Amino acid sequence: MVLMPEFSILRIITESYFIIILVGLNLMFISCFLLLQKRFDRNQDRPRRTTKKVNKGFEKEILQVYFAGYPIEKILEVYVAFKDVEECVVCIEPIDKMVTLSADGSKAANSPAIVSITPCFHIFHQNCLHRWLLNSRFCPICRKEYTVGELKGKHPWINLEI
Ligand SMILES: [Zn+2]
Ligand SMILES: [Zn+2]
Repeated sequence: MVLMPEFSILRIITESYFIIILVGLNLMFISCFLLLQKRFDRNQDRPRRTTKKVNKGFEKEILQVYFAGYPIEKILEVYVAFKDVEECVVCIEPIDKMVTLSADGSKAANSPAIVSITPCFHIFHQNCLHRWLLNSRFCPICRKEYTVGELKGKHPWINLEI
């Protein structure tokens, strides 16, 4: 009977150690979990931010409406000054030729060009300008920024009726 209290104290001590170790392990688990969650959240934020940055141009529908294409001859009949322009700045190919890729990958510049004019009166191949404006809202030549509101207000900025 004399041994009993000693035994209980020993038991209490070992049990408290056990509990302390359990609590410690628990805290370690929780901090590990929180750390991983934080890192996961940060990783999730990253791609969202980059996709926003990539898509900073105009929608295809906007380009179809406001950056229509016309045959180069038709444009030159009315806007004679464009005769001085030699190349499309986007593709660095002659502005009066439409450069198409053949099936074997070689370039063929034979079909007459379809061109598009910006509100700042710069001329480009229509497909080149559309490709550019899907990723940018700035003119490739003078860096003027376009807004949808401005495009709506100025449209149509060219008149091909003589
Ligand atoms: Zn071009
Ligand atoms: Zn411009």
